[in-house]
Amino acid sequence: TAEIQIKNVSMTYPVNNGEDVVALNDVSLDIQEGEFISLLGPSGCGKTTLLRIIADLLQPTSGSVSIRGQSPRDIRMQKKYGIVFQSPVLYDWRTVRRNICMPMEIMGIPKKERTARINQMLELVGLQDFGYKYPFELSGGMQQRVGIARALALNPEFLLMDEPFSALDEFTREKLNEDLLSIWSKTKKTVIFVTHNIPESVFLSDRVVVLSPHPGRLSAVVDIDLPRP
Ligand code: ADP
Ligand code: ADP
Repeated sequence: TAEIQIKNVSMTYPVNNGEDVVALNDVSLDIQEGEFISLLGPSGCGKTTLLRIIADLLQPTSGSVSIRGQSPRDIRMQKKYGIVFQSPVLYDWRTVRRNICMPMEIMGIPKKERTARINQMLELVGLQDFGYKYPFELSGGMQQRVGIARALALNPEFLLMDEPFSALDEFTREKLNEDLLSIWSKTKKTVIFVTHNIPESVFLSDRVVVLSPHPGRLSAVVDIDLPRP
């Protein structure tokens, strides 16, 4: 059975002026374990809404999401997913190491284990030499790498990413896409990646899920079978 089952999910935002916004309309989708999937479509088609519903940051108006037989709420409470947003929310007055460490402290992971994981994560994202820097000393791409390291440090079962590289220049974005694939091939975690960039989605994914706006319908699911770098 699929790792993540999205069944007939609809989302309507109530809006003050009386006109509701239908962001998702009856979306169903199965996501397999270890799959790299992207949610693609123009601005406003409901990509972020769907990601937030999976993450339990938003309740759908109707329909359901089941993750390994559990509810998104249970999954969130157990910190079983990592999430990366467009701009990494880092603490500028704490070092890169401390930033990666904090969620592990909150989860009560012992110090020795935390240190080991920080070293492992810094290596995974290629920031071995930057652990004692502060976020403001790093480039945008490097900050986003810290966000990825922090999300993976808790050893989540899957990773949710909402346009993580869209604020970066083309060159940095391409580099990070390549590095993300290499991280993915090492960790084999399920990834759900939101983007409005067609080449990016084709480059990264096993499957591209295309949403169309007015109102957010699933318009195509495309299998991508290209050789991985
Ligand atoms: P995407 O991520 O594809 O750009 P979103 O999921 O952000 O799309 O938005 C889908 C639709 O829902 C859009 O029309 C957007 O304006 C609307 N929307 C998103 N969030 C809210 C909100 N909090 N309140 C009202 N409307 C919203
Ligand atoms: P990224 O690909 O992570 O965005 P950049 O392309 O901005 O990184 O930078 C390329 C390289 O320059 C980095 O891998 C790093 O070695 C170095 N670099 C960038 N910013 C800094 C900095 N603030 N301090 C030290 N080295 C840096």
